[in-house]
Amino acid sequence: MPELPEVETVRRVLEHRLSDATINRVDVRCAGLRNPFQRGFASMLKGSRFEGFGRRGKYLLLQMSRTQTWIVHLGMTGMFTVVDRQVAGRPASQRLYEGRHDHVVVKLEDGRCLIYQDPRKFGSMEIVPTSELHHHAAVGRLGPEPIDPTFDDQVLASQLAGRRCSIKAALMNQRIVAGIGNIYAAESLFLARISPRRMASSLVGIHGGPGKRCTRLAAALADVLGRAIAAGGSTLRDFLSPDGISGSFPQSFRVYDREGLVCRRRHCAGIIQRYVQDGRSTFVCPKCQR
Ligand SMILES: [Zn+2]
Repeated sequence: MPELPEVETVRRVLEHRLSDATINRVDVRCAGLRNPFQRGFASMLKGSRFEGFGRRGKYLLLQMSRTQTWIVHLGMTGMFTVVDRQVAGRPASQRLYEGRHDHVVVKLEDGRCLIYQDPRKFGSMEIVPTSELHHHAAVGRLGPEPIDPTFDDQVLASQLAGRRCSIKAALMNQRIVAGIGNIYAAESLFLARISPRRMASSLVGIHGGPGKRCTRLAAALADVLGRAIAAGGSTLRDFLSPDGISGSFPQSFRVYDREGLVCRRRHCAGIIQRYVQDGRSTFVCPKCQR
C-alpha cells in the first residue's frame, strides 16, 4: 500500500508531467472505487487545468482551475500513468481500451492521457471546493506531516499524550501522524529502538514533553521517510510511480519483511520476529527494540 513516500513520489511526477495541462474529457469506466463516484464527477473536471500538486498524508490534492481540489487516495493498488500521444505507434486513445483496470481516463488537450488504474478498487476520488478542504471528513482531520520542517519531538509528544494504544497503532492512526502505514511504522520504530507494542503515551515525559524514545522516534521518522522519498518510494507489488520508475527503497529495509533474519543493527545479532498486531504483520528485533 502506498504510504507517504510513495504518494509524494507520485505527486512529484504528476507535477513534472502535468503542470498547466488542461482536461478535455474524462471517461469514468466503472461505477465507483471504494465509494461510488460523486454525481457529475467527470463534468466537474472537464475543461479544468492542473494548477497545483499538493499532498496531505496519503492523499494527493490536485488543484484544478483555482476553485476545486481533486482529492485522490491510491488505496492498495491505485496507480496513475501518463500516456503520451503515441504508444507503440498507436494514438494514446487506442491504448486506453486495453486495460481492464483503467477506471478513469483523463484526456488532455495536448493529446496525452492520464490513466488511473486500480485492480482492487480500494482507492478513492472526490472533487471538493478548495475553500472547504479543511472541513473534509478525512483530509481535514489529518495529524501533522512527519516530514514538515516544523515536525519535531515536541509535536510528536503532544500527539501521543494520553494515547493508551500501542505506539505502532498510534503511528498508523492518520489523525495522530499523517501518511504512515505498516512499512514505515516498522522501519521507524526499528531505527528508534522502540518496541511496536510499547504504549504510545509512555513516550511522553511527566510534563508532557518528549521522552528519550520520543526524541529518537521523531528523528527516525524524518530519516526513514526522507530516505524513502529520495529513493523514489518503495515498490511493493502493485505500486509504481506514474512514469514507470520503480522505487529503490525496499533494498534498504532494515526490519520490514525480514522475519528470521539477523538484525541489521551492528553488534545486536537478534533474530527478526514477525507477529500480527491489529491484523497487520509487525516486524521487530526483540533484542534491541524495547
Ligand atoms: Zn536488533
